Amino acid sequence: MNIRVSDASARAVGRIEIDRISISLGEGVDAFEAVRDLDFSISPGELVCVLGPSGCGKSTLLGALAGHLPVTQGRLTVDEQPVVGPSPDRGIVFQQHTLFPWKRVRDNVAFGPKMRGVVRGERHRAADEILRLVGLAGFERFYPSQLSGGMQQRVEIARVLINRPRILLMDEPFGALDAQTRSMMQEVLLDIWTRIPTTTVFVTHDIEEALFLADRAIVMSARPGRVIDDIDLPFSRPRQAELVTEPGFVQLKRHIIGLLKQREGSSPLPRLSPLG
Ligand code: ADP
Ligand code: MG
Repeated sequence: MNIRVSDASARAVGRIEIDRISISLGEGVDAFEAVRDLDFSISPGELVCVLGPSGCGKSTLLGALAGHLPVTQGRLTVDEQPVVGPSPDRGIVFQQHTLFPWKRVRDNVAFGPKMRGVVRGERHRAADEILRLVGLAGFERFYPSQLSGGMQQRVEIARVLINRPRILLMDEPFGALDAQTRSMMQEVLLDIWTRIPTTTVFVTHDIEEALFLADRAIVMSARPGRVIDDIDLPFSRPRQAELVTEPGFVQLKRHIIGLLKQREGSSPLPRLSPLG
């Protein structure tokens, strides 16, 4: 398997249509609406952060995109196909890694191709290639427990991307890492996403993380989660850590803090004026 920069853009796959979806959780008297009337689309190759307070339904939305959870109302499609169940086409990375502890790094990464019947030599070559890309050359024969948290998350990303998914779903993947590792992992992710352009939906409650990573930040209200803003981020790429100190960045951060402070039922803040 050859991983080339042009692949995904040439394929132009990974369009997500979220068409007026609501998702209810719980049963009977305990049933409640977790997200309400979400309505937006995501273009092929776009990196979108979904930002919102804890409990607003971000993981619920991601679970629906992954095909683990049904929507109660509305329609969810990827490249015009309704999402009806999980698929390697929609890979998901969680905060806690899900690597097999008894398998070496290479075998963890090669697991998807193995399940598809790719022969050993070929799947190991593909695994080593993608491990190089995530900065783990030399660690192929390690076990997950021998790696740091940041390195385990790199393996997790490699394990998903080796399947060349249409969609990469990330649920607060760096939430358990210390600040410095987290910041490094954000740069690693952007580097990987540049090399393997994949539609990415990255969920976080961290405003800076969303602004640093995304093409677009979708801001959700407290439960039931609704979209309260959808912001195109004007920052050029490649992005460096210093971006977070630039005036335009700080202005947007302040705007979002204001949005998230609003209590339910209050009138929406005016839209942000163009950045000067
Ligand atoms: P987020 O990821 O934004 O923190 P979640 O999507 O995990 O939020 O959860 C949305 C709401 O649904 C929360 O209030 C959470 O407590 C609740 N919740 C999540 N999963 C379940 C479940 N299986 N049964 C009942 N309530 C749930
Ligand atoms: Mg969550």
